[in-house]
Amino acid sequence: MKKIILCDSCGAINRIDIARLGSHGAVCGKCSKDLDTSAKVQSITFDKLEKIINHAQLPVVVDAYADWCGPCKMYGPLFNEVAQELWNKAEFYKIDTEKNPMISVKFGIRGIPTTLFFKNKQLINSQSGVMQKTDLGNTINYLSN
Ligand SMILES: [Zn+2]
Repeated sequence: MKKIILCDSCGAINRIDIARLGSHGAVCGKCSKDLDTSAKVQSITFDKLEKIINHAQLPVVVDAYADWCGPCKMYGPLFNEVAQELWNKAEFYKIDTEKNPMISVKFGIRGIPTTLFFKNKQLINSQSGVMQKTDLGNTINYLSN
């Protein structure tokens, strides 16, 4: 199974074997710079999300948020914790819905935060509101089986 690592330098989508990630560093296949293989949740654009969905082997989980949204500020750290714990089960990203209004149009987001779950290039689940940590973890574990 391969995990997507976005290059901080050139933005390329790299796919790295999960088995290799723990022990080795990795470099970008396009620009050869070192990749950040920590499980930090990166903020991405709608265009990048579409590419990631098409390239991902793992389920893709997205926190759709906005800077002005109070509940989103509570949810962000929780989402981050789950991303650290389940880094090898899914791809985790966040998207600013103000800067990327197409995400709301395309995936029918009516309130934020909304958590989107993609598998096999399809949106298969959408949860509006702050998810409990156990619910988020259980959903990801279920999807990754
Ligand atoms: Zn690169």
